[in-house]
Amino acid sequence: MPADFVFSRKPITIEGGEDVFLYDDAGTEYLDMGASYACVPAGHGHPDIVDAAQSQLADLTFVQGSYPTSARDELYEKLSSVAPPGLDNVWLCNSGTEANEAALKFARSATDGTTFVATKRGFHGRTMGALSTTWKPKYRKPFEPLLDDVTFVDFGDSGAIREAVDDETAAVILEPVQGEGGVNPSTTEFLQAAREATDDHGAALVFDEVQTGLGRTGTFWACEAAGVTPDLVTTAKGLANGLPMGATLCADWVAEDAGPHGSTFSGGPAVSAAAAATLDTVVGEDLPGNAADVGDYLVDRLSDLPVRDVRGEGLLVGIEVGRGANRVLRDLAMKHQILALPAGRTVVRLLPPLTMTREHADEVVAALDATLEVTEA
Ligand SMILES: *Cc1c(COP(=O)(O)O)cnc(C)c1O
Repeated sequence: MPADFVFSRKPITIEGGEDVFLYDDAGTEYLDMGASYACVPAGHGHPDIVDAAQSQLADLTFVQGSYPTSARDELYEKLSSVAPPGLDNVWLCNSGTEANEAALKFARSATDGTTFVATKRGFHGRTMGALSTTWKPKYRKPFEPLLDDVTFVDFGDSGAIREAVDDETAAVILEPVQGEGGVNPSTTEFLQAAREATDDHGAALVFDEVQTGLGRTGTFWACEAAGVTPDLVTTAKGLANGLPMGATLCADWVAEDAGPHGSTFSGGPAVSAAAAATLDTVVGEDLPGNAADVGDYLVDRLSDLPVRDVRGEGLLVGIEVGRGANRVLRDLAMKHQILALPAGRTVVRLLPPLTMTREHADEVVAALDATLEVTEA
């Protein structure tokens, strides 16, 4: 039995992918504007990444983390070189929630604090620790009790974050642009307030860049644009262009007292080779630059449509359609062969491969225009 009790099954069976396109079992081509959840920044089946993974798979698929091996060491080096300033200590895992789980544990171990501050509408994953810092009641309720020492503040409320952080705080965790919560960019002032509050009380500042990192928002990390450097950054989703990998990047003071954390699959060679090739591609093809250019163009053109709001940064875009997003998404998929995502009830979210062009953007805008006209309530 498929996991119907967990996933809603779409009426399209996907069998192939190339660059920004997915193909169903009848060979129909779909423009992938987010159906892959930001997991393929370099596009489906990027030849350099496939080659790197395939040849490492044949040479050595796996050896555990205590044995140095060149594929993993190369990835450590590459991740350190793209990390925000000072965050060149790398912990590797297999998903976003694990990267955040590690960040929360490291923060407790390295600080004198035990409590956490997170943001309303924030999303950090579904394991117990990360879920405890995830806001949405729907995701939390059935699994309570969770960690009970998490305070949620309004995203963007600088006064509230200053007030919430005290000497008991181990970490503040937040997304520089909230993804699942509706595509909400933060102000620079809010990130600065979080930085100052954590500095003042010896707490760690964690930026969850699982959705925003790797060039998606137009810079390699979203926090770069704001000029605020946290103590930990987490990444996953697109890190190995579709293979499972996450990472927690930390400052020296955190790494020196991170505690006995571990994971069997941490930095397996085959996945590490894919991730190293992904980083090379993101940098070598200037995908952050393309995300900035095409993202600006897309937002500009979307703003002419009859929608309530268009927001986001780079190629993380939310369109407030002012009606049920699911109906709009279904029409986009079935009538226009464009796959996108919701972010809450009324927001259509675009999270495409960062290789998309202005021509693809034009297609999306035309399809959305036609769809909104037809579904006019
Ligand atoms: C998707 C996501 C996660 C969880 O990642 P998984 O790989 O699904 O565990 C955590 N944080 C953010 C911001 C995300 O978008």
